[in-house]
Amino acid sequence: MTDAFTAPGRFFRGNLHTHSTLSDGVLPPAEVCRRYAAQGYDFIALTDHFIGLYGYPVADTRPFRGAGFTTLLGAELHSGAMANGELWHILAVGLPADFAPGHAPDFAPAEGQETGAAIAARAAAAGAFVAIAHPQWSGLTLADARGIEAAHAVEVYNHGCAVGSDRADGFGIADLLLTEGRRLSLIATDDAHFTEPDHFGGWVMVKAEENAPEPLLAALKAGRFYATQGPELRGVALDGAAVEVACSAVSTVIVQGRGSAAVACHGAAMTRARVPLGRCAGSPWLRVTAIDAAGRRAWSNPIWR
Ligand SMILES: [Zn+2]
Ligand SMILES: [Zn+2]
Repeated sequence: MTDAFTAPGRFFRGNLHTHSTLSDGVLPPAEVCRRYAAQGYDFIALTDHFIGLYGYPVADTRPFRGAGFTTLLGAELHSGAMANGELWHILAVGLPADFAPGHAPDFAPAEGQETGAAIAARAAAAGAFVAIAHPQWSGLTLADARGIEAAHAVEVYNHGCAVGSDRADGFGIADLLLTEGRRLSLIATDDAHFTEPDHFGGWVMVKAEENAPEPLLAALKAGRFYATQGPELRGVALDGAAVEVACSAVSTVIVQGRGSAAVACHGAAMTRARVPLGRCAGSPWLRVTAIDAAGRRAWSNPIWR
């Protein structure tokens, strides 16, 4: 498989998880798009809560596309209970505008509604890129996550959850799923509602030949992207017994693998690192984290061996 760094094209910056006044966000769709475009984003997905309370919105953001800025249609899907009895949150980007509602009247699980796994599968079958949203915030278990077989990705960093609850993490669950052999990619998002400083904190850099919905969606499904809070990844490649990383200036580059395996390389304003596999040598998957002097991180997708 071609990875993000060897694929043709360039990187486009996008936020895959955002809310508007079509659900519980405070800004109308046009203003959300305007702010992201003004901030330098190449694209966003408005993903309002797909429940009856809000009329099952799939925000039509097509009017807000323009020169240098595009949108993917999407929604945050809710149906079925997790093990803790709360309602599933599943991100679907690239949904058709007429995606059929199920039976999800509000934010509580309802009798007879489809399961989280079922609505995720239906979204994927309809063409969407599907991600398990904010695992730590939801309190979901590994068994919960394992059940969403249609997922393409895990939301490993959710900026809104970081700001509002200090529960931003998805790596705990994602690493366990990778170790079970699930070929998942890793996304960072804002989940912005504009109710607090919950925007412009986590995004994806997607490699595509054109900033247009179809190529972006194809690249997302193929894992040709990385996630970041600021640092840029310019190359991540397995070279014999080391991982070669090229990036914007960072202080730490870490290669992680299954279990407790990790190898770190520290320095000042490093733009290249050759990290020996060391304790990661036996891992079937590897991923890279680069951390800058301000503590902001960039995360590669898994490399499979
Ligand atoms: Zn959510
Ligand atoms: Zn959300």
